[in-house]
Amino acid sequence: MTQAHPTPTPNPAYVGRFAPTPSGPLHFGSLLAAVGSYLEARSRGGAWRVRMEDIDRPRVQPGAAEGIVRILDALGMAWDGEILYQSQRDEAYREALRELERLGAVYPCACTRKEIADSSLGGPAGPVYSGACRQGLSSRRAPCAARVRTVADVLVFDDSLQGRIAQSVEREVGDFVVRRADGQFSYQLAVVVDDAEQGISDVVRGIDLIDSTPRQIYLQSLLGLPTPSYLHLPVAVNGRGEKLSKQTRAPAVSCQDPVATLCRTMRFLRQEPPPGLEGESLDAFWQWAIAHWQPQRLQGVRSIVLTDAEALA
Ligand SMILES: [Zn+2]
Repeated sequence: MTQAHPTPTPNPAYVGRFAPTPSGPLHFGSLLAAVGSYLEARSRGGAWRVRMEDIDRPRVQPGAAEGIVRILDALGMAWDGEILYQSQRDEAYREALRELERLGAVYPCACTRKEIADSSLGGPAGPVYSGACRQGLSSRRAPCAARVRTVADVLVFDDSLQGRIAQSVEREVGDFVVRRADGQFSYQLAVVVDDAEQGISDVVRGIDLIDSTPRQIYLQSLLGLPTPSYLHLPVAVNGRGEKLSKQTRAPAVSCQDPVATLCRTMRFLRQEPPPGLEGESLDAFWQWAIAHWQPQRLQGVRSIVLTDAEALA
């Protein structure tokens, strides 16, 4: 295991990222996205940036961002540049919203949660907003959310693992919120603005976000921002088919034995760490993993079941 592996040629055109929501300790589901995005970036000689998606303030747990950073450190995953915190980016989001307003691409929506639930049709990505406020509000009720006017055109992109994805945002999602009535900017808007700010060329993340991608591509086209390449990794699910998340009580990643944790992650990502790698150093692990990363082994895979024993190991 001591043989040297060739270092990939530096490629300044590739900039990847890991963008966790600090709503709790890093769990195995998020670790997959971290390791997958890191390996894809490093094996292609690219940069790897980190962004804390702490925009949804009620969901953010104090200390969770620091905990995630400590785990990345303990696992030997070095990021490039400063960590970007969405909680500090309101001015950039406000500017993007102003641009959408100048374009006439957004309108105020005063619907209550109940009105939306009563008038929405079910779509593959959740309830489809009926467009009730598109033609203007009958009475100016405050506070208002801001919604993007979508179009019926089918938006197509080629995902590196999941193949061709097509979605009519208007029919399947509907006009979507970019600023909530309480003033908070939406995840969709923040991601698009921040991917551009961080110069992201390649987004590698869990497939649970694949339905959001056409909305993000649509916003990029409105705002004149570049569209990155996309690679959506399978998500880890438990024996009941539920995605591992804070809600399904996924256990926190343990760093007692970082190389063992990473080898387990690699096996889950259908890579084959050789016997003996577990006893090696973190440096040796990453050298092997970067040289042997074969994402195509996950072609078309949408979820992988993780047994409770594996999740807790
Ligand atoms: Zn409305």
